[in-house]
Amino acid sequence: MSRTYHIVTFGCQMNERDSETIAGMLEEMGYEYCPDFKAADVCVLNTCSVREHADKRFFGVLGQLKNPHEQDPGRIVCVCGCMMQQQVHIDTLKAKYPWVDIVFGTHNIADFPRMFRNAAEEHQKITEVWKDAGPIAEGLPAKREYPFKAFVSIMQGCNNFCTYCIVPYTRGRERSRAPEAVLAEIEGLAASGCREIMLLGQNVNSYAGVCGEDGCDRFGIAPGQKVTFPQLLRRIDCIDGIERVRFMTSHPKDLSDDLVQCFADLKHLCKQIHLPVQAGSDRVLKEMNRHYDSAHYLELIRKLRAACPEIAISTDIIVGFPGETEEDFQATVDLVEKVRYDSAFTFIYSVRKGTPAEKMPDQVPEEIKHQRFDRLLEVIHRIQEEKSAEYQDAVLPVLVEGFSKTDPNVLTGRTESNKTVDFTVRAPEGAEAGCNSAAACAEALIGQIIPVKIVKAQTFSLYGEAELQ
Ligand code: SF4
Repeated sequence: MSRTYHIVTFGCQMNERDSETIAGMLEEMGYEYCPDFKAADVCVLNTCSVREHADKRFFGVLGQLKNPHEQDPGRIVCVCGCMMQQQVHIDTLKAKYPWVDIVFGTHNIADFPRMFRNAAEEHQKITEVWKDAGPIAEGLPAKREYPFKAFVSIMQGCNNFCTYCIVPYTRGRERSRAPEAVLAEIEGLAASGCREIMLLGQNVNSYAGVCGEDGCDRFGIAPGQKVTFPQLLRRIDCIDGIERVRFMTSHPKDLSDDLVQCFADLKHLCKQIHLPVQAGSDRVLKEMNRHYDSAHYLELIRKLRAACPEIAISTDIIVGFPGETEEDFQATVDLVEKVRYDSAFTFIYSVRKGTPAEKMPDQVPEEIKHQRFDRLLEVIHRIQEEKSAEYQDAVLPVLVEGFSKTDPNVLTGRTESNKTVDFTVRAPEGAEAGCNSAAACAEALIGQIIPVKIVKAQTFSLYGEAELQ
């Protein structure tokens, strides 16, 4: 009987991409995916330390693995990811969860197969966490969720040290992949039928991949010179078969005019950007160590909309940063009204141990943070509803991702602006659909980009209809 694995991933797309690598390694070692994390022979928990909520969820899930592990000590439980880069969490695991078999960090994922074999064959308990990041490992396997869209990591780590953020301490300093390695990965994906890629990095705008000994012919760049993010995007835009390119995340201080121009010039770059603002108050932005003010941010929005009037803009906002006054909060609301985001991820500030903001005076009382959060959401949702209404009756190209989780007769996909659309499909009257059943017709659309007419545009969701051609 085949052995099985399950990976529970907390946090961001970088973690999701790491989990794809770990899944690829386990499959190369002969393990098969199991949908039930408590029943799998191997369970990997890939942790996130960006917000308190993810920490708590992790310990909740880990606790549920204790009984299955006691009943079958042959089961292997692995814990990895950002939390494991902090000694305090390793100490907690050792004290309270000594039955965990393997603990490793964000920097030594490439070594997972060796650690795994030692745990599986020699029954060793292993804790190996590298304090510092080495060069980015290339050529690792990956088990991707979809054949038609993929994450491609172009850099790792962050140099920005925003005062509320733990990432530079858990993921290390910025390292960019070699440009030729990025292109080779995307060309391989295109050759296997992938249509959409999402380029990943904590701050993709500061990508600076170094050309190897032979230089980067395709960029016309000499050995040892660096390729910028806009240069990389322009080259990716020429790869046959890739129809949509997205990227995440951008830091406003590094968003260059050259990158803005890419939205006007590039055929396959989606008209969509996620540009975290975090706060509208210049005083709070300074305390956050963000290196821009609200005027600079608004100027970037103006430039983006001048280059690409249809661009959809989303953001991240933190409410209740230490010392945030009512006036500071109102500045955030004012900025949201000016930008009119298509969507926004809002977070209530939570203390992260080991960050400078942890020690800042004037932590905002929970009650006030929640009140402000609710007020901000009201504004964001009103604008979102107004913007969503603009899609009513529009016909939009949608990359079909699969069947809706709540209705097997409905397909779901994403627009270029990254909005989810649930839609039904019908054959034109009197026409032969050319496939055996409605379900088979719908199934054949998965992975394709097709026109969908929006018949109901709601605040958070779009509903549409598509006709079989
Ligand atoms: S840019 Fe700031 S918020 Fe983003 S990962 Fe780096 S330190 Fe964290």
